[in-house]
Amino acid sequence: MKKHNFSAGPCILPQEVLKQAADAVVNFNGLNLSLIEISHRSKEFIEVMENARSLVKELLNLPEGYSVLFLQGGASLEFLMSAYNLMKVDGKAAYLDTGAWSTKALKEAKLLGDVDVIASSKETTYNYIPKNYSIPTDIDYLHFTSNNTIYGTQFKEFPKTDSLLVCDMSSDIFSRELDFTQFDLVYAGAQKNMGPAGTTLVIVKDEILGKSGRDIPSMLDYQKHLNADSMFNTPPVFPVYVSMLTLQWLKDLGGVKAIEKLNEEKAALLYAEIDRNPLFKGFAAKEDRSLMNVTFNLTDEATGEVFDKIWNAAGISGIKGHRSVGGYRASIYNAMPIESIQVLVDAMQQFEKEI
Ligand SMILES: *Cc1c(COP(=O)(O)O)cnc(C)c1O
Repeated sequence: MKKHNFSAGPCILPQEVLKQAADAVVNFNGLNLSLIEISHRSKEFIEVMENARSLVKELLNLPEGYSVLFLQGGASLEFLMSAYNLMKVDGKAAYLDTGAWSTKALKEAKLLGDVDVIASSKETTYNYIPKNYSIPTDIDYLHFTSNNTIYGTQFKEFPKTDSLLVCDMSSDIFSRELDFTQFDLVYAGAQKNMGPAGTTLVIVKDEILGKSGRDIPSMLDYQKHLNADSMFNTPPVFPVYVSMLTLQWLKDLGGVKAIEKLNEEKAALLYAEIDRNPLFKGFAAKEDRSLMNVTFNLTDEATGEVFDKIWNAAGISGIKGHRSVGGYRASIYNAMPIESIQVLVDAMQQFEKEI
């Protein structure tokens, strides 16, 4: 039987998407050729790329003037690329430090200019989202991480600035309805809520490009990728195709609005058990709890072996917490059915009975 996959990333994808993807690897669209052996310049693949890009626009309700790219290098390359394209020569950027990914992002930006870390929750292992900070006005952009995959915290309200706003949305894109006009640049590695590892979604407001005053290496230049319709070089054909299938799956399900409601129900079910069951305590501050990554610890570490046995026997996989937080992390991305969360809740209750 298929496991209940709570892995943080790569992670669960819809079962029907995996089946369609497997079929396309053998015989794509009845061409008697594999998806991964046809030219990326073929009309069939160009159609895949264009369909994927337009599904992103449609599902996120992107306004005119925003473009969509499928690039490579992961969110980690976007840490550098975003700075390369937006940090002016002798420029400055502000960063909100809400975890390991934010820290890595700002480290790359420091290669290109001044970085002002305007708030950080590092001293409490990033278990909350800082709220009272002031945003300097003399910055080229403000960067933040909307969902902190490792710690299970999530911005519910976004920073407001007249400067450009850049968001690493890797682990919660397509999970809730947002007004994208507030962002100038958004990026997300595919492997959390969209597809397999190997492509990164980038959403950029066209008018912000070409203003940094630097020479940008071709592969790091958003404008070059835009000019080539996201095919400046050979795109990652398989991850783009599977992302397209997942986006189509999401559209058929009713889109982001529908999935947001399900995501809220799923998270509520699990957090209610964490708060009720005396053997567990939540890690993240309640008001900042993530709807995607649910982090929790045992109240008595010594009981861990018993709990681990129970959830393993229940067919649950991937709930061990990140080493910096310990305990457990249940990642409950879009493709996670509520039935699997119920299995985890049952295991937690079983544990309570056995202890
Ligand atoms: C996983 C993750 C990353 C890193 O993504 P890569 O594609 O491995 O580079 C960056 N930011 C966030 C928020 C993540 O969850």
